[in-house]
Amino acid sequence: MRASYAVGLDVGGTRIAAGLVERKGRIVREMRRATPKGGPFGVVDAIIECIAEVSSSVHPSEIAGIGIGLPAQIDFGHQTVEFCTNLPLGGVDMRGLVMSRVKHSVTIDNDGHAAALGEYRAGAAKGARDFVMVTIGTGVGGGLFVGGQIHRGHRGLGGEFGHMVVDLEGPECPCGGTGHLEAFVARPAIIRVAKEAAATFRGSSILRRAGDDPDSITAEIVIEAANAGDEAAAEIMGNVGHVLGEALVGVVNVLNPQLLVIGGGIGETCPLIIERVSQAVAGGALAGRRDVRVVPAQLGNDAGVVGAAALAFDEYESREGMHR
Ligand SMILES: [Zn+2]
Repeated sequence: MRASYAVGLDVGGTRIAAGLVERKGRIVREMRRATPKGGPFGVVDAIIECIAEVSSSVHPSEIAGIGIGLPAQIDFGHQTVEFCTNLPLGGVDMRGLVMSRVKHSVTIDNDGHAAALGEYRAGAAKGARDFVMVTIGTGVGGGLFVGGQIHRGHRGLGGEFGHMVVDLEGPECPCGGTGHLEAFVARPAIIRVAKEAAATFRGSSILRRAGDDPDSITAEIVIEAANAGDEAAAEIMGNVGHVLGEALVGVVNVLNPQLLVIGGGIGETCPLIIERVSQAVAGGALAGRRDVRVVPAQLGNDAGVVGAAALAFDEYESREGMHR
C-alpha cells in the first residue's frame, strides 16, 4: 500500500511551520511554533515535537517520510547543511539528528527550493514546466524549474537569486558581496529606505502607521501604505519591483521561462512589485521571450510545508522504485 501522507516542515529563523500533507498537496493538519534560540539541538527537539504532533492521528505506515526546508545552503546530494546565516546549523548533520529519532526517512533542502516545489505541486506554478520562483522576505531566495524538474545545480546550491549583481557599485549585501539584489529588495533594505523617506516626506502616512516611531517601521507597513496609495511608499515598493524586474530580465534572457512566480512575505502581498516586474520584462527581455507571465505565489506560508512534503514523497517514490 502506498503511504498517503508526508510531513513537511518549514524551519525559519523565527518560526517553524509543520503540516501533515496529502500526496496532492492538501494540508490536513498544521501547526506553528517559535524557533528555539540557542544551539541546533533545541531546533531538532522542536522539529521532533512538530512531527509527533501533526502525525499523531495516522499510523506510521501511512507516512511516506519527512521533508524539511531550512533557511540554509544545502548540499542536496550529500544532504548536508553547508552554511546557515540565521540559525546555528552550518555543518550540523540535521538529517541524521532528526532521522535518529523518528521511524521515517528524512530529506532536507533549501527553503526557497521547497517553496518553489510547493507552488509547482499545488500553487501558482501547477502545470508549468519551465519557471522561476523568487521569494522576497528577510532575504531573497527561490528555485528554478527546467523541464518539469527542479534544477539545483552541481552541488544543490543553486537558486540564490538574491546574490545576482544588479549594481557594480551598490550597497553591501549581508553575504559580504557588493550590489546584490538582496541588498535592494529584502526587508532590511525596504526599512532603511522607508526610514529615510519618512523623515523627508512629511505628507507620507508611513510614520503615522508606525505610531510616529521610525524604529517601528516595518516592510509590512510600507506595503500597506503603498497598497493604500501613499506616494512615498508606492515609490519605495515600485523601485523594489523595478530593480527585481531588471534582474529578472537577465534571468528571462538566459532561461526563457514561461512563468515568473513572485513569493515570500513581501513578494506576494504587494501588487505593485508584480506590475513593475511585468513592465521590466515586457520592455527589457529579448524579443520572443516577452510572453513570460508574472504572477504572485498562491500558497503563502504553506508553500514551504507543501514543498517539503513533496520532497518526502519524491524520496519515497524513488526508494520504492515507483515511477509516476
Ligand atoms: Zn549577496
